[in-house]
Amino acid sequence: METSTTYPRVAMLIHGEWQHAGRETIEVVNPADESVIGHVPVATAADLDAALSAAERGFAVWRATAPADRAAVMLKAAALLRERVETLAPRITMELGKTLDEARYEVLRAADILTWDAGEAMRAYGRIIPSRPGWRHMVLRQPIGVVAAFTPWNAPIGSPARKVSAALAAGCAMVIKPAEETPASACALAECLMDAGLPPGVLNIVFGRPAEISRHLISSPIVRLVTFTGSVAIGKQLTQLAGQHMKATLMELGGHAAVIVCGDADPKAVARLAVTAKFRMGGQVCVSPTRFLVQKNIYGAFVDAFAGGASALRVGPGLEQGSQMGSLVNGRRLKAMQDLVGNAVSCGARVAAGGKRVGDRGFFFQPTVLADVPPNADALTQEPFGPLALVMPFDDLADALRTANQLDVGLAGYAFTNSLANTDRIANELESGLLSINHFGAAAPEMPFGGVKDSGFGREGGAESLDAYTITKMVSVRAS
Ligand code: NAD
Repeated sequence: METSTTYPRVAMLIHGEWQHAGRETIEVVNPADESVIGHVPVATAADLDAALSAAERGFAVWRATAPADRAAVMLKAAALLRERVETLAPRITMELGKTLDEARYEVLRAADILTWDAGEAMRAYGRIIPSRPGWRHMVLRQPIGVVAAFTPWNAPIGSPARKVSAALAAGCAMVIKPAEETPASACALAECLMDAGLPPGVLNIVFGRPAEISRHLISSPIVRLVTFTGSVAIGKQLTQLAGQHMKATLMELGGHAAVIVCGDADPKAVARLAVTAKFRMGGQVCVSPTRFLVQKNIYGAFVDAFAGGASALRVGPGLEQGSQMGSLVNGRRLKAMQDLVGNAVSCGARVAAGGKRVGDRGFFFQPTVLADVPPNADALTQEPFGPLALVMPFDDLADALRTANQLDVGLAGYAFTNSLANTDRIANELESGLLSINHFGAAAPEMPFGGVKDSGFGREGGAESLDAYTITKMVSVRAS
């Protein structure tokens, strides 16, 4: 199929109208060649108020829409996403830099998320509490209200899909601020929903200066839930702001995933899987496997196989056929990689693969494996959020678990072992919201996704998907 490489005009969506004209704009840059491909409008305070008022009106309509009718709109939008995948995927690649295959996968996954939550819309059961004769106690689940959502650039359609889908299934309306780096993807999702029959005002999109927008939206009495996916630091700021205004929060924040590879695993087989998982989307994934703790008896074999696989990956523009890893999103991530590698090497780490920028145009960095990384290296405490794997040996499982659990974050964790006893111990003791054993999958729509400790709270997906977006109301009736 032919790949479309036109980048659309980006606009804000307020009460069903796309708005662009007459505003200040921010440039959208293609990270593969640093060219300017579009402009994002910057919302004024009046735009934000208009979006809030639209959401308030949209909520009144949508909460009164039958769950089956909400689900029908969502399923139609999912079908449109699947139908439009060849148009949407190149746009994601142009604004984010990841490969076309990765972009296609993200669009299809967004469709799967809508499909899952459409089912959940019809299963948002309350309950009847057993009571004395003449009494009836019930618990109703109702939509929480208008949601303010903030999503990052690394999954520009997947992350908005998570939040929009759960909100719509629950009967909520939303004002969303997607990342300014990757604005067209969230607009494309909204377009599918509007084309599927979503009433005006239920979903509104604004762009601009993140801190100003979050302050404005979170302090509005119209907003009842604040949901954010992004860094721990910003998540803490927004949680604090939400607390001042007594708003509920759902926070999906960063991680620094440990991978425990026990001595009974096959080092070459695990390394093969690790190459695919680590360098997917250039490692710019919150569940990216990062700290590889490998038992001493297979350490050397694992490092050699991992480094060999990483060095063999073809790095290049995401739109180019054959590229296996695209560019990073911006110059900030490139500099972060250079700084983290430089620091680790100065502390005594060994570069087993990569370690350098690729070319001098576009934000490309080599798939990098650092071995024997000493505990004082910055990369062991700062989330790399890039193509950087850190490998360290361990003696026994207790040591590995202690190292894995020593950070303040706990999003994803991984382990490889053929021992049931090890599996059981790791499942019990690893401090993470997600744990995959003998594979690197972590985020299917039917599974609850979210972290522990500083990685945030609340879950997206799974049977828990609508929890944050609904309130429970106790209704007690005295019948006689
Ligand atoms: P950043 O913290 O500046 O921005 C991350 C996201 O938060 C962006 O989408 C941005 O628009 C938004 N944001 C920033 N300040 C905000 C505010 N005051 N109110 C509302 N939204 C705000 O970081 P960055 O330089 O883009 O990325 C750096 C780090 O962020 C990464 O190293 C990674 O740790 C983290 N990150 C995490 C995820 C995730 O999926 N958990 C995604 C992207 C970035």
